[in-house]
Amino acid sequence: MLLTDSYLSFALFMIPARYFIIAGIFYTLFYIINRKRWIHLKIQNEFPPSSIIVSEIFYSLTTMLIFAIVALLIFKLYWADFTLIYMDIHQHGIPYFIFSLFLLMIIHDFYFYITHRAMHHKKIYPIVHKVHHISLNPTPWAAFSFHPIEAFIQIAWIPIIILFIPLHFVSIAIWVMYMMIFNVIGHLGYEFFPKKFVNSFLGKIFFTSSFHNMHHSKNNCNYGLYFVIWDKIFSTTHHNYENSYNNFYNKIYLDNKNYKG
Ligand SMILES: [Zn+2]
Ligand SMILES: [Zn+2]
Repeated sequence: MLLTDSYLSFALFMIPARYFIIAGIFYTLFYIINRKRWIHLKIQNEFPPSSIIVSEIFYSLTTMLIFAIVALLIFKLYWADFTLIYMDIHQHGIPYFIFSLFLLMIIHDFYFYITHRAMHHKKIYPIVHKVHHISLNPTPWAAFSFHPIEAFIQIAWIPIIILFIPLHFVSIAIWVMYMMIFNVIGHLGYEFFPKKFVNSFLGKIFFTSSFHNMHHSKNNCNYGLYFVIWDKIFSTTHHNYENSYNNFYNKIYLDNKNYKG
């Protein structure tokens, strides 16, 4: 099997479509259908004005355009035989395929952490990253609401890494899916991870919706995307993250708002 022109057309079409489908499903479930029923899970009490949501969608679409240009570049590199992308899963075996998924997640999260922290530098922030922080109280539509420079930085590591690390094309497709889903969850504005999650083993590794929501409301902490580990290593986790997560659920119990879990 080869990555042909028609596969490229499909991949380019799916870039904005995937954003609308994933963000749209979460937005419809949380902000429309279950807006009242799940109000106790809303991290910040207010809802953002529609002008902010329009801006989140506008900037996310410009990001999708930049992602599509980079996807085109990746196909050109692949056709010119510059990349280590492979089609036959048995070429490197299934254990390597699974390992490569974790590898992509870890490399991406570390890259995201470093570049995200750099973009909070006082000289870079007003030019580039301020766009993303228009959303103090983000919705799923904010997942890719970046300045075009930031959008390019966010995706630039992929055309580089495929030159050096063998990756099956399905592992890249799976990475794209979980990158989109994790981003949308981080900007959901609702917490649906279990009550005891942050105190569990997994909670010491993986983020929650509250974790990234706190990044938007405080602006100087919680820079990681999938994991909390880099923030822990570099002491940038908000000192009150775990307490405020526990207090959030304690308050639900005290208020006795529908919550049974
Ligand atoms: Zn930020
Ligand atoms: Zn964000």
